[in-house]
Amino acid sequence: MHPAIPHLIELQRVDHQIALLRAELDSFPKRIVEADAKLKGARAELAAVKETQTQGIAERKKLEFEVQQWKDRARKYRDQSGAVKTNESFKALQHEIANADAEVAKAEDRQLEVMMTSEDLDRRVRLAESRLKEAEQTVAAERKEIHAQGTEKKKQLEVVLAERERIIVPVPEDLRELYARIAKRHNGTAMAEARDGQCRGCGMRVLPHILQELRTETNEEVFRCESCGLILYTLEPIPVANPAGGSMNASSAASTNH
Ligand SMILES: [Zn+2]
Repeated sequence: MHPAIPHLIELQRVDHQIALLRAELDSFPKRIVEADAKLKGARAELAAVKETQTQGIAERKKLEFEVQQWKDRARKYRDQSGAVKTNESFKALQHEIANADAEVAKAEDRQLEVMMTSEDLDRRVRLAESRLKEAEQTVAAERKEIHAQGTEKKKQLEVVLAERERIIVPVPEDLRELYARIAKRHNGTAMAEARDGQCRGCGMRVLPHILQELRTETNEEVFRCESCGLILYTLEPIPVANPAGGSMNASSAASTNH
C-alpha cells in the first residue's frame, strides 16, 4: 500500500475523535437550556399557585366586607323596626331583616369554603416552593457538571488537535487534499477498510488484484473504492492464491494479523 496510508488511517482515527468531541461540545448549550427549562417550569408552577392564593385572599376580604355589610344592614332594619308606625312597614322590615340574615349566612358559608380552599392552597404553595428549591439545586448541580464536562472535552479536543498536527506531517500535500475532499463528501470519513473482499465503507466487492496491491509494500498507488470513492486500505494478510482451486477465501491464519 501507499506509504502514507498508515498515517491516513491515524488521521481518520483522530478526525473521528475530533468530530465526536465537537458534537458533544455543540450539545452543551442545548443541555444547559434544557436544564434551565426545568427551573422555568418549577417557577411557573409556583407563580400559578401563588396567583390562585392571592385571588383567594382577595375573595376572603370581599366576603368579610359583604358579611359586615349585611350585618350592618340587618342591625339598621332592627333599629328601625322599633319606630315603625304601620303593621305593613313592620312586615316589610321583618322581610328585609330575614333577607339580610340569609345573605349573612350565605356569605359566611362561602367564607368557610374559601378558607378551606386557602388551606389547601397554602399547602400547594409550600409544595411548589420546595419543588422549586429542589429544581434550583438539581439544575445548579447539572450546570456545574455540564461546565466541568465542557472544560474536560475542550481539553481533550486540544490534545487530539495537537495529535492531528503531528500525524499529518508525513502526509504529502496532494494526499491531504484528496483525504479532505473525500472526508468532506462522506460525513468526515475518507478511509475504508477492505476486509473479507469487501469495502467496509459501502459493502461493495473489492477486486482481488486491488486487495493484493493494497498489501504490497512496494506499491505507491492509492486505491479508492469504485463504488463509494473512499480510500481503501487493508489490515488483512493477502490470501495465498491457490493456483488449483483459484479460491479467494482468506485462510483462518488471517486472524493473527493486527
Ligand atoms: Zn466502498
